[in-house]
Amino acid sequence: MSDYDTVSADVEHEEEIPADHPRYQDLLTRHRIETGIEKGITHLQGMHAEGRGSAFDYLLGEETIPSADAAERAAAAHLLLADQPVLSINGNVAALVPGEMVDLASAVDADLEVNLFNRTADRVEAIAEHLREHGADEVKGLTADARIPKLDHQRAKVDADGIYAADVVLVPLEDGDRAEALQEMDKTEIVIDLNPLSRSPQVAAVPIVDNIIRAVPNMTEHARDLADADEAELRSIVDEFDREQALEEAEARIRNGL
Ligand code: ATP
Repeated sequence: MSDYDTVSADVEHEEEIPADHPRYQDLLTRHRIETGIEKGITHLQGMHAEGRGSAFDYLLGEETIPSADAAERAAAAHLLLADQPVLSINGNVAALVPGEMVDLASAVDADLEVNLFNRTADRVEAIAEHLREHGADEVKGLTADARIPKLDHQRAKVDADGIYAADVVLVPLEDGDRAEALQEMDKTEIVIDLNPLSRSPQVAAVPIVDNIIRAVPNMTEHARDLADADEAELRSIVDEFDREQALEEAEARIRNGL
């Protein structure tokens, strides 16, 4: 029996997970989702989403592949060019990368908006509070005074001065219906999703096939690196990015290990 066989997935604190464990990222993600459910910020269905993501990440080799890194750089350029960028936060995102989303929002001067599939007032407030505890000054999504067209009432709710008005939106781990509806509103949509065949990355202008726990800090690093870039440079990064190629390369890695 190796030392690692004695590490329970059911740890009290994430510091108990050894950083050199071969499945470290997977144990960490699972633990954060469980904690999110206990705290009332993540819906139980978030565990299913996490399980699906975990399987795809295993096949990707649990690393940021070069096409995902290119997508993360293009996403950073889009956010820096945007007039009104918004980062959408659901229960899994809040549980997995709260501080990292706050850092990204600050690096690209974007708003954070709580945007839930299974929306309840308590959960919206709990997530907003969780983000504030991680350094957010302002959190949108509590007003919910506008609707995304073509979605049922609960799932359509957004802030009029947030996602509804945004020109560029980052929607990590988004469900396919809402990703499609946002795309039809002519927004530039950046999606983070480990499944390249899922509808959300398929409709995104920038599909990022990577684990959110790696993707978001890497986007922030790219944004900081590009902080002094002029508009022409940012536009050329955006124009050179090939979404079809990014999706194909991710699928090839997952199917064939290429
Ligand atoms: P569709 O978009 O077609 O509705 P779906 O029903 O699989 O697909 P959901 O269950 O709503 O989508 O969303 C979960 C998605 O999030 C899955 O595609 C899963 O791979 C992805 N996912 C889960 N955890 C992570 C993570 N940590 N990082 C990135 N993506 C993740």
